[in-house]
Amino acid sequence: MHTVIAIDGPAASGKSSVARLLARKLGFLYVNSGAMYRAVTWLATSRGIAATDIGRVLGLLDVTRFECGTVANQSTILVDGVDPDPHLTEPAVNANVSAISAIPEVRRLLVEKQRLFAEAHDLVMEGRDIGSVVFPDTPYKFYVDASPEVRAARRAKQGLTDAIGERDKVDTTRRTSPLVIAEDAHVIESSHLTIDGVVGEIIGRLKLKGLALREGV
Ligand code: C5P
Repeated sequence: MHTVIAIDGPAASGKSSVARLLARKLGFLYVNSGAMYRAVTWLATSRGIAATDIGRVLGLLDVTRFECGTVANQSTILVDGVDPDPHLTEPAVNANVSAISAIPEVRRLLVEKQRLFAEAHDLVMEGRDIGSVVFPDTPYKFYVDASPEVRAARRAKQGLTDAIGERDKVDTTRRTSPLVIAEDAHVIESSHLTIDGVVGEIIGRLKLKGLALREGV
């Protein structure tokens, strides 16, 4: 088992930028678990299957090959050999991803794949349940938050249609693996911090906890 740094938080809290930069600085693999849930959502919506039609979603999972890999220190996912990346932030995906992610069988499939990454790599993984469910034993857990206003402004600046309030509501109230602050997570309120500022705080904390980092970090 390699070193795992878990970064959880609500939509548009800045955790993707933070996790990507942190992984680069440490020389760790960056894994975006949200992209995996988005890939399943894209598959369903592109086939005209409603997120509420759980039977058909599960039928689709049964006949689809999901292959996880790595390229340039980042995780990748292929859906029946196709890279879904260009579609992952489409409005239909944003609108349906929380409902798809609430399906326990979808989570079981993806959590299994997420854990496999740690068999071969030190990694920074971002998501909603990384510290609470996927890697509950890692001592390195962070929860990156920001005010709803700041998060909405960040999405608007990216030009994306994304009802983050709705997603947060579904993500925090679902029965299986809801978004929670893991008991032993270090919470960072990032509304008034830069990406570098948040990464600096995380690195400081990792050093305090005695994690050996590569020279120069
Ligand atoms: O991180 P991102 O906003 O791209 O995640 C998209 C959606 O995927 C979240 O709103 C949530 O419904 C789901 N997700 C999840 N568990 C994770 C990562 C993402 O349920 N670990």
